Amino acid sequence: MALAPRGDYLDGRFVPPSPADGELIAPDPGDLDAPPSRFPFRLASVDEAVAAARRAWPRWAAMPDAARHAALRRFAGALAERAEDAARVIVAEMGKPLREARAEVQSAIEKIAITLDEALRFVAPFEAPGGRCRWRPRGVLAVLGPFNFPLHLPNGHIVPALATGNCVVFKPSEISPGVGQIAAECWDASGLPPGVFNLIQGDARTGSRLAEHPDVAGVLFTGSFETGDRIRRAVIEQPGKILVLEMGGKNAAIVLADADLDRAVAECFLSAFQTTGQRCTSTSRLILDAPIAEAFTGRFAAMARGARIGHGMDPGTFLGPLATERSLERFLSFQEIARQEGAETLLATSRPAMSRRGHYVSPSIHRIARADAGSRYQQEEIFGPDVSMQVVEGFDEALAAQDVSRFGLALSIFTRRPEAMEQAWLRAEVGVLNRNRGTAGASSRLPFGGRRRSGNDFPSALFAPIYCATPVASLESDAPFDPASLPPGVPWPGCKP
Ligand code: NAD
Repeated sequence: MALAPRGDYLDGRFVPPSPADGELIAPDPGDLDAPPSRFPFRLASVDEAVAAARRAWPRWAAMPDAARHAALRRFAGALAERAEDAARVIVAEMGKPLREARAEVQSAIEKIAITLDEALRFVAPFEAPGGRCRWRPRGVLAVLGPFNFPLHLPNGHIVPALATGNCVVFKPSEISPGVGQIAAECWDASGLPPGVFNLIQGDARTGSRLAEHPDVAGVLFTGSFETGDRIRRAVIEQPGKILVLEMGGKNAAIVLADADLDRAVAECFLSAFQTTGQRCTSTSRLILDAPIAEAFTGRFAAMARGARIGHGMDPGTFLGPLATERSLERFLSFQEIARQEGAETLLATSRPAMSRRGHYVSPSIHRIARADAGSRYQQEEIFGPDVSMQVVEGFDEALAAQDVSRFGLALSIFTRRPEAMEQAWLRAEVGVLNRNRGTAGASSRLPFGGRRRSGNDFPSALFAPIYCATPVASLESDAPFDPASLPPGVPWPGCKP
């Protein structure tokens, strides 16, 4: 489904970029012979979008909560009406199966009620003896989105940002410009005042110009560690700017000897290969207790071998294509890196013969002898359907092995013993710690974020309003002044010195 580009959404209207500085070309990764969407873009739109947002901010911030929230609920209605369009554009631009794309759109719609009804309590004003606390919106917030959840994840920043009284400039991933356009059309339909929400299309140049803009009070970023770190360095001279970095993962699943094996195999399979391994929470490291290692691996590999590969619009597809040619090259290069570093290939990837030309690959599994902090294969996020497998003796060794990672997003433990969570929770430096649920299991009704290279300690999802606003403490008094309250030594007419 190729969309006709409408340009940037600036100050309440779509503006075709003229003259354009470049063009985003969005091919269908599952059907490279289909005509791609083409979205021209213009770098100066960044400055116009930020200026429009700045102009709109004082009135939007001062508006009663009820009026702001009504506009957000109208957005949810508009998105529900466009749900099928949005899901089909997600499939066409990044390749995930339609079933997953529909679930993503549903999560984006639910985000509004969850934010307004459940999350805003974390920034509720409160009173203390002699004082009170209120949360002040930050101003203009930039939202930079990834390709793998091109609607839901940016929306996870945009909705709480607007709900708490900020104005937003959103740059979608260059891989999914059409999804960004549909989001902007839904905000347009919600009747927001002009300038409150703005969309700019573009690539890394657009992103860095936006992130570094002096009138942007905060950058809400979801994407890779490399880009997040680049943004952090670029704005180091702007200490007042808040940076919220939701970044990559290299997530482990530990399967202990007492685990329910059916459940462990199924959950690990889904977490490893859903979205073709292109989730920040994908399982990329299996750490298996020796007594179950052989049985688990046999079953897991058989499922991986049998996973149905196809175009996202084919109803039987489990594994869609990788999103881009670069993702494909990266995935294939890591097969070679794994081998060079001594990993044993348990299941080799292949390029399956398909009726359509696309970035299709089958899953791969590599056995490693031990966790290695110096291994590129073990330490870098591949973002494709590959898992490493390592056998350990017991939980202690498993926890030590999972810790040899530069990332810290999600960890799953498969065991019948709830006490295992107590042992893991201080030893594992992660933001998501699951038991008998795969690493890709996450809830919009809980905080979501990571440590180390996965995030900078501003978790999103339910906690997003906390980084969108800043608490202002006030001491106030209407009582008449009592000179007796002054400490000794303060001269005051009529008082003893
Ligand atoms: P990416 O880092 O390539 O791009 C993310 C966004 O940053 C895009 O909009 C891009 O245009 C923009 N960008 C690129 N260079 C920039 C620069 N110099 N300055 C400012 N902006 C710039 O990420 P991606 O490939 O689109 O997404 C996949 C990555 O996102 C994976 O690493 C994945 O783990 C991560 N991710 C993390 C989460 C999370 O919540 N932690 C969720 C989803 C995806």
